[in-house]
Amino acid sequence: MSIPLGFFAGLGGASREGVLIKGSNYLEMLSDVETVVFDKTGTLTQGVFEVTDVITDDVPREKLIEMATIAESSSPHPIAASLVHAHRADIDRSRVTDIEDIAGRGVMAKVDGTPVAVGNRRLMEMLGLQFEEGPSTGTTVHVAIDHRYAGCITISDVVKDQSAQAIRDLKAAGIKRTVMLTGDSEAVARKVAGEIGLDEVHSQLLPGDKLEHLERILEETDGKVAFVGDGINDAPSLVRSDIGITMGAIGSDVAIEASDIVIMDDDPTKVATAMGISRKTMGIIRENIIGTLLVKFLFLGLSAVGFVNMWLAIIADVGVMIVAVLNSTRALRYRR
Ligand code: ADP
Ligand code: MG
Repeated sequence: MSIPLGFFAGLGGASREGVLIKGSNYLEMLSDVETVVFDKTGTLTQGVFEVTDVITDDVPREKLIEMATIAESSSPHPIAASLVHAHRADIDRSRVTDIEDIAGRGVMAKVDGTPVAVGNRRLMEMLGLQFEEGPSTGTTVHVAIDHRYAGCITISDVVKDQSAQAIRDLKAAGIKRTVMLTGDSEAVARKVAGEIGLDEVHSQLLPGDKLEHLERILEETDGKVAFVGDGINDAPSLVRSDIGITMGAIGSDVAIEASDIVIMDDDPTKVATAMGISRKTMGIIRENIIGTLLVKFLFLGLSAVGFVNMWLAIIADVGVMIVAVLNSTRALRYRR
């Protein structure tokens, strides 16, 4: 009885902190996590980009932004959402047709019947187009209109306030290795990783590459591997890892479905909080098991030599249960 009660209380305590854990097995597994792998956009960064620079040749600046925004208007990617948000004028979605999402690269669509491609350098390379290197200060979104390179929009994302603390908390909780996998450029990846203090970073990855890196990390790790992402281009990794953790607010429904743990307010420090709750819960369950067995064996021994009457036996049985129940409720409260 003390085991399920401990888990109930642990799951309840986690919910109170805004961490939804989809089963007691995950709560148990969390205490064995050795490596935590993060996605970048939307997970460690806010996923809200601001346009910082636009470079064009012969296409007018406004037209470039307009075409790119309309092409992106149906994409669920945070880059797309930010472009749409920045372009305040109403967007007429009926102007866009033949939308094709190219995972980890960008989007291709027809705007007013003209083919438009919006995405990173890998998309331009895929289309065989010459492109200009954007400034390394942010994420460069290249735009091609009518099969010709039209220019690029530089956008930058902000690291979440809590990200550096999240990594420090994980280190303090004994996590051996923290890794970031991103589809973004190396310069941006390095900058973010340096700011936050991650051990390892891999950039310019397609969703399949993320999965390959994860497979390798799974092989190299004795303990469990947790993957923290927003489900955009990383759903396979969420499923493949031992424990998939999703940001609930920015994450898509698919991501929430594919993950084992959902962080409701997207705060990355909650990963360490969840681990703390897991360890505390496992400790309480261990105390309950050991305590209960010790008392039972003690009374069994005493009764063998005739020291125990009916009353003492009842106290030993019910009393121990009550103590175990009370002990379990400690898992409901967690102090960082
Ligand atoms: P991250 O690993 O940082 O979460 P993603 O795997 O979601 O990044 O995307 C990788 C890269 O692919 C992005 O940095 C961006 O350059 C490009 N990309 C993907 N989708 C889009 C899109 N809809 N519009 C523009 N660029 C995109
Ligand atoms: Mg992502």
